[in-house]
Amino acid sequence: MIIRPKTRGFISLTAHPKGCEENVREQIEFATEHQIQNSPKNVLVIGASTGYGLASRIALAFGGGANTIGVFFGRPSDGVKPASAGWYNSVAFKKFAEERGLIAENVNEDAFSSQTKSLVVDIIGEKLGKIDCVVYSLASPKRTDPFTGETFKSVLKPIGTPFTGKSVNVDSGEVSSVTIEPATAEEISATIKVMGGEDWELWMQTLHGEKLLSNGAKTIAYSYVGPEVTWQIYANGTIGVAKDDVTRACSSINFLLEDIKGQAVVSVNKAVVTQASAAIPVIPLYISVLFKIMKEKDCHEGCIEQMVRLFKSRIYEKFPQKSADEQGRIRMDEFEMADDVQALVLEAWQKISTENFNEFADINSYRHEFLKLFGFGIESINYDEDVDI
Ligand code: NAD
Repeated sequence: MIIRPKTRGFISLTAHPKGCEENVREQIEFATEHQIQNSPKNVLVIGASTGYGLASRIALAFGGGANTIGVFFGRPSDGVKPASAGWYNSVAFKKFAEERGLIAENVNEDAFSSQTKSLVVDIIGEKLGKIDCVVYSLASPKRTDPFTGETFKSVLKPIGTPFTGKSVNVDSGEVSSVTIEPATAEEISATIKVMGGEDWELWMQTLHGEKLLSNGAKTIAYSYVGPEVTWQIYANGTIGVAKDDVTRACSSINFLLEDIKGQAVVSVNKAVVTQASAAIPVIPLYISVLFKIMKEKDCHEGCIEQMVRLFKSRIYEKFPQKSADEQGRIRMDEFEMADDVQALVLEAWQKISTENFNEFADINSYRHEFLKLFGFGIESINYDEDVDI
């Protein structure tokens, strides 16, 4: 089949197997060049097929020699349509990891369900023995509660008052003002159910209860803060409240892991182009402005650069660089949040319009990175060639 990108708003309906494999290979190359000392041997990554989870898996496997189990939700091909990018990424990861002599188990199942947790418990028992590190990197629009069977949907809305702010149509480059009505109380609690810390706690309770965590095991979940221009929709919006619940869960997991001297941490990462961030109003415009500034200042990072730096210098270094904030979270977003970067973001934000867009933002770079998520726009790939989907 000859596969072309078919985008609808913030998703692509198609993905390219060879392009996805190339994305994984490029990240592996970077991780291989940046070895992590004292890295964990057996790692479970929940949300392992794209974005920060995939980069974590690659950083620890190829930068540290870890065996990995990756849990994700990917759509296989039905023989007519291509599979999802996450599915192709995970197949490619497994191929490269096994070529390197590493164990790489893919679990393409709903991470929120109790059955998936039991399945992973069995795989750990059979293949790995104990887990030294659990990365929790899920981003999902919905979750079915494993005990009640009720399905909750997360929303990306402000809380209390409507939000009016600038947004960009990524296809046309048109900047306009959007207004988003505030979430209802029910939507706020549903978002906490989906994107809060409850499922992370359930995973850790299961693994701890089954005695599958090694002494000193670590677990990391990811969060975002961002600058004031995004607060109403992110940090102070429904997703921000859910992320506060992840910080709450972190304390309770630390308490749970006391007997094995384990540690739970939340890492606040930088804004990057992923399938999850593309769906958040305002964020694509913010990222287009931010990337231009960070690239000009030569401090730009993507998922793999962030994750290698996180595990290398903040988590597994003998004397890790201290960077915790007042809530005890690791701050990997320090280059994004630097005063000089944010002063330029604010200036651009106040002035940016459709007419002067290219002066302040790099939409081509955003579009390129978005298409790349699905394996498109990569120079070395011949997109006119027939591929096996
Ligand atoms: P992503 O969309 O690239 O990845 C999400 C992962 O979750 C995928 O592997 C997907 O398959 C998996 N997933 C979703 N629902 C699932 C389910 N029910 N069962 C199993 N797997 C499921 O997202 P991302 O941007 O890498 O986000 C990962 C984490 O990083 C999130 O907590 C997010 O808030 C955080 N984060 C993202 C950014 C950013 O700019 N993208 C910045 C800081 C923090």
